Amino acid sequence: MAPGGGVLYDVIESRPKYLKYDVEMEKTVKTNTRASNSGLYELLECPVCATLMYPPILQCPNGHTLCSNCKTRVQSCCPICGFEMGSIRCLALEKVAELLELPCRYRSLGCHDNFPYYSKLKHEKNCRFRPYKCPYAGSACSVTGKIPELVAHLKDEHCVDLHDGSTFNHRYVKSNPHEVENATWMLTVFKCYGKQFCLHFEAFNLGMAPFYISFLRFMGEETEAKKFSYSLEIGGGGRKLTWQGVPRSIRDGHRKVCDGLDGLVIPRNLALLFSGGNCQELKLRVTGRIWKEKQVIRN
Ligand SMILES: [Zn+2]
Ligand SMILES: [Zn+2]
Ligand SMILES: [Zn+2]
Ligand SMILES: [Zn+2]
Repeated sequence: MAPGGGVLYDVIESRPKYLKYDVEMEKTVKTNTRASNSGLYELLECPVCATLMYPPILQCPNGHTLCSNCKTRVQSCCPICGFEMGSIRCLALEKVAELLELPCRYRSLGCHDNFPYYSKLKHEKNCRFRPYKCPYAGSACSVTGKIPELVAHLKDEHCVDLHDGSTFNHRYVKSNPHEVENATWMLTVFKCYGKQFCLHFEAFNLGMAPFYISFLRFMGEETEAKKFSYSLEIGGGGRKLTWQGVPRSIRDGHRKVCDGLDGLVIPRNLALLFSGGNCQELKLRVTGRIWKEKQVIRN
């Protein structure tokens, strides 16, 4: 063939390199799978959102790949060459992905496991190292982090009171108890047994009837939350209501706990009776205790 055939030159040049790489890869594959696959991970990264692509992985007529979420974002126009993106899938890349193992994305937070490409997302949804969401109710706070970071955040950003100890005696005063729509909610954080607990107090409507609910959430995983119990007591005028429960993990959404009525539920009329009777002001005293169960016999 005539000299200067660039294509031929490339092929000759690249073949030995490729073979050598292959051999090297075999040697290191056991000890250093991640490093040797790093080029593949780059291939699997969407050029628009820079996250790893999952099936269907799409490609433009020129072979540029894109994740399916980004296809609408770029209005079906390839971000690299501008050609229209059809619905051509890149099956080869989808298959290659199947062969890969990836570290959990929360590696830096302490998870050192690796997962087959397609089960990684599923694991990450439940990884116990994933950051916790801010437990503050009544606001759409998007802050996430480890427990100590969230405790600092609750104190600094939400002006939440922090208390040491496993018993509490709290007064909730609300000058207009007839406003339930703008849910009255309060949060106090207790520190005991080296852990943190969130005490919630809030108003809600059950059907047409206004209620208050108070419950405790554990700042940690559910498996650990179950090792604790708590009691709440509320009363006045010789009457009282008590509740004994198991704190819910803050992994459980605040809404979920409320909707499940997993706490001390007080109808408003009774709350007003406890408040001393003039029905104009809500003045409730909530006392409670948190303890660690010695033996857990719970299913
Ligand atoms: Zn994307
Ligand atoms: Zn393209
Ligand atoms: Zn993980
Ligand atoms: Zn927050």
